[in-house]
Amino acid sequence: MKSFRVTRDRGRRWHVAFAAIPEPIPAPGTGDVVGVDRGIAVSAALSTGDLLNVPVLREAEAKRLVRLQRKLARAARGSNRRARVKAAIAKLKARETDRRRDWVERTSTGLARDFDVIGVEDLKIKNMTRSARGSIDAPERNVRAKSGLNRAILAAGWGQLVERLEHKAPGRVVKVDPRYTSRTCNACGHVAGESRESQAVFRCVACGHQANADVNAARNIRDTAVGHTVAARRGSGLPGPVNREPQPVLLPA
Ligand SMILES: [Zn+2]
Repeated sequence: MKSFRVTRDRGRRWHVAFAAIPEPIPAPGTGDVVGVDRGIAVSAALSTGDLLNVPVLREAEAKRLVRLQRKLARAARGSNRRARVKAAIAKLKARETDRRRDWVERTSTGLARDFDVIGVEDLKIKNMTRSARGSIDAPERNVRAKSGLNRAILAAGWGQLVERLEHKAPGRVVKVDPRYTSRTCNACGHVAGESRESQAVFRCVACGHQANADVNAARNIRDTAVGHTVAARRGSGLPGPVNREPQPVLLPA
């Protein structure tokens, strides 16, 4: 144990984070490879066909949050009422953060345990091509996103998932170029934006292959990751060591 960090969150709870390196989870040794695609409608689609969702606030909680935010806008600056409303908002947001963190831990552990190699999109490339993806690749992809807040939560969940995967499966996470993953047919390899019929449906204009659009993308990611793995065996090298950030742990009350 080399260092620790003490913080207090918006819900006024204390956390202590140790820079302990988690034991990597052993690869199953089955040769199984999974591709993971980040979606908007679902948080992550797996090449196995599984669709995963980052938990967000339940409907009643989300409504309560809106009400509290309205109250906050009306409360006089410096008043006790304002402080109380602020604390209630913080508590709700902390709950959401906890759920997301729990989801990230369970999902990353499951993937690291079940698969030898995990293919994910390289976000550095993805961010550069984001606008093109929105307009050419799947026009409704961005339009459909419910709100900036939701997008931010999903993005945060995705970033944390990839980070924890790299901790738990060091050297087994392969980042692939996401540029053609959503418009390439996984059955025949034909690349066409029109095959992305809607946010949810992929239907190949060349061979007629139909699949959930995110799952089709995840399968392309898996296949590209397999290609990388083969290349690595020939000597190009797998990803190197990763930085390990301290992970916050909630202290028992
Ligand atoms: Zn096809």
